[in-house]
Amino acid sequence: MDYGIHWFRRDLRVAGNEALRHNCLKNKGRVVGIFVFDKKFLGRDDFSNNRFQFFLETMKSLKEELNSIGSDLLVLDVGPEEAFPKLLKKLEHKPNLITFSRDYEPFAVKRDKAMSEFFKTHEIETQSFRDHLIVEPWELTKKDSDEGYQVYSPFSRRWRVVYSEGDMKNRISSQSLSEKYYKGPKKKVFSLEWRDLTSEKDYLDSYLKENKKSVTIDIPEAGTKAAQTSLLNFKDKIKNYKTDRDIPSINGTSRLSHFLKNGSITTAQIAYSLGLDSFNTLSTGENTFLNELIWREFYYHILYRKPAVEKKAFKPAYEALKWENNKTWFSSWCEGLTGFPIIDAGMRELKNTGFMHNRVRMIVASFLVKDLLVDWRLGEKHFMKELLDGDLAPNNGGWQWAASTGCDAQPYFRIFNPWSQSKKFDKDGVYIKKFIPELKDLDAKRLHSPILDHATYPRPIVDHSVQRNLALDLYKSLK
Ligand SMILES: Cc1cc2nc3c(=O)[nH]c(=O)nc-3n(C[C@H](O)[C@H](O)[C@H](O)COP(=O)(O)OP(=O)(O)OC[C@H]3O[C@@H](n4cnc5c(N)ncnc54)[C@H](O)[C@@H]3O)c2cc1C
Repeated sequence: MDYGIHWFRRDLRVAGNEALRHNCLKNKGRVVGIFVFDKKFLGRDDFSNNRFQFFLETMKSLKEELNSIGSDLLVLDVGPEEAFPKLLKKLEHKPNLITFSRDYEPFAVKRDKAMSEFFKTHEIETQSFRDHLIVEPWELTKKDSDEGYQVYSPFSRRWRVVYSEGDMKNRISSQSLSEKYYKGPKKKVFSLEWRDLTSEKDYLDSYLKENKKSVTIDIPEAGTKAAQTSLLNFKDKIKNYKTDRDIPSINGTSRLSHFLKNGSITTAQIAYSLGLDSFNTLSTGENTFLNELIWREFYYHILYRKPAVEKKAFKPAYEALKWENNKTWFSSWCEGLTGFPIIDAGMRELKNTGFMHNRVRMIVASFLVKDLLVDWRLGEKHFMKELLDGDLAPNNGGWQWAASTGCDAQPYFRIFNPWSQSKKFDKDGVYIKKFIPELKDLDAKRLHSPILDHATYPRPIVDHSVQRNLALDLYKSLK
């Protein structure tokens, strides 16, 4: 009997998963899911056990959901080039369709091209679907040209035009959480499990158990349900988003980034659920929030069109910058021991929770590059090791923005002053005191200038005004 396989990657959900739905409808419910671990990924030097655990927990929740609706997920411990040939040899009948959701990272683009060729030579139909972007890179070009945008504002204007035209409304609503074919867990819309096809060993539980030993933080609840709860909690906050989003002591942002990374939820689902598809009636908060979703898409488009940014400065001239890369300063920054309370609070939030507020990400990134004169790539890698939402495109984009080496970057001469940023965005020191308990009894005013007489908290490792001039000289040396 015919059946299909859905190859899950970073679309770990059932609701609104168009590729999975297509396969399910075509095969009348006889569809199973597969996930294959690429060992190259597990061996990367920016690999994070914490993020991996969150990913595994997300898969566990997906597997439970699939089981509850009559389907299944098989997790293999080898990459696709090895896993699929081995599996196909063992299966009595070939699947008639393999579906997957498109990804845009350089590594994923190459992998998908190679695997699509492989499936073709085995005469298995393959279909890929748009999933985690609302507008795909090739859909958004400058007028009468194939070229993409390199500056956010015109990109965003064009994105909004594309978004409000043609089939965009349909594609957003087609990922709606309340679609017809899938009414939520328990309803058996699928009717095939892996044990009906093969006795291949599943590796999810052993990965979960083994990786857990190296986890250093509390892993938040994972999966679609948790993502939807976060989205629901955010609905009330969006009206104040424009102002609250910049204050790290306020829980005023959506906290959806780690779910977006794994596809427990998509930007289209968020936009649909928040009613962001009717531009004319958007409030200031809604407009600002939509802009952030567009920033995410912007960085994905940049990465897709210019994969070299993964390793190199977007603006090639900046490759010649001679970073000092002082190891002691870098390690003080990583540990949250620079003597700049706002920097240290951010770095300790990152280390202790796997998250850092966006405003603070901008401040600590600018500080590492323009005060400590450390190569932005070291900061980028450290973030990837620590962040639960660590995601190549926005992380690389954020770092290149802060280092003034990227597209639409902060101009090099605009250098954040960590003391005034701290005073402006954490005036009463609520955020600082939360993550630096040794400063909790200090008067808030003292947190925004060097603390020279504390028994346990370090003196500032550098003088901002001196370092600022050195950074300006460094960048000017390229002219
Ligand atoms: C140096 C640096 C590194 C970063 N690294 C990452 C990363 O690895 N992964 C990641 O998802 N985001 C990254 N960001 C962007 C941003 O900080 C986070 O997306 C945001 O803090 C997540 O919190 P939230 O979901 O509550 O965001 P919200 O404010 O609720 O925003 C909603 C969504 O919009 C997107 N978004 C928001 N701000 C940005 C932005 N500046 N750039 C791109 N997308 C944005 C995210 O998907 C986010 O979940 C980085 C920013 C900087 C400055």
